[in-house]
Amino acid sequence: MTNTNEAPVSVIGLGLMGQALAGAFLEAGHPTTVWNRTTAKADRLVAEGARLAPTVADAIRPGSLTIVCLTDYDALYDLLDTDSVELTGTTLINFTSGDSAQAREAARWAERRGARYLDGAIMAVPPAIGTADAVILHSGPQSDFDAHKPTLDALGTVTHLGEDHGLASLYDVAGLAMMWSILNAWLQGTALLRTAGVDAATFAPFARQMAAGVAEWLPGHAESIDSGSFPADVASLDTHVRSMAHLIEESEAVGVNAELPKLIKAMADRSVAAGHGAEEYAVLIEEFAKPHEG
Ligand code: NAP
Repeated sequence: MTNTNEAPVSVIGLGLMGQALAGAFLEAGHPTTVWNRTTAKADRLVAEGARLAPTVADAIRPGSLTIVCLTDYDALYDLLDTDSVELTGTTLINFTSGDSAQAREAARWAERRGARYLDGAIMAVPPAIGTADAVILHSGPQSDFDAHKPTLDALGTVTHLGEDHGLASLYDVAGLAMMWSILNAWLQGTALLRTAGVDAATFAPFARQMAAGVAEWLPGHAESIDSGSFPADVASLDTHVRSMAHLIEESEAVGVNAELPKLIKAMADRSVAAGHGAEEYAVLIEEFAKPHEG
């Protein structure tokens, strides 16, 4: 049900994610205008009380908030970078996935068009939208985030990361790096254990405990990285490298793929060769922080 006390909002792009966003605004009582290239995707939302704008230009009103959620930035410019769309005085929040350079460029483009602009990254799947589990990141001017936070709160747990428009995209990919590393490590361990008849479900609780335990180390390692000092209070990089060799040997001995541990050991070997063997593991930031040569 829409409630006229709530701020109006427009949602452009009603794919799987855009429909979830518009649905959450409606659920929270915001008068919600929607537009999508394929009009039929608006049917359910219209039945729930959304207004279907006849054109994309009509969906955007001066002084109001417009959420954009499209496949990519090309689609954003295809749709909105035209004289028939008036952006002056509007605020755009762009949840379209892209990289940090694209986000910063879009902010400059929006400024040229007279619009206020926040970039966003949705760290959730559509069914989670509207619940506290949906973590939604924003970057750009703090004042624009503050002005629209009461509306954005309808979507989930919303956070402002900083004024640099590229931050939301960078956090997005940094989060993906975490996700795939944890999943790949678990798959490596699962492949090893299956050779001894241990199934994935048996290993999963142990793996989860390991992941949580290692996560506890992050604040301490972060202090080392930020201070640039890596005293090995618990284990040196040399000790880690010897254990990496065991992981590779064991994987090869039981016929399991050893590519990933070899890649990680190659980085650690370079760090040892550069004289960091007696320091703690986080010194590897120096390998991660530069392009790979070779
Ligand atoms: P989707 O279901 O494929 O929807 C894509 C949307 O973009 C549709 O509304 C589509 O319109 C529109 N579109 C594409 N090209 C267009 C163009 N040239 N002109 C006008 N409209 C165009 O994708 P989605 O899952 O909603 O994802 C949308 C964005 O959210 C992506 O950047 C994605 O990375 C991000 N995201 C998605 C998820 C997720 O779990 N789905 C999670 C986090 C972030 P039509 O309907 O007419 O084709």
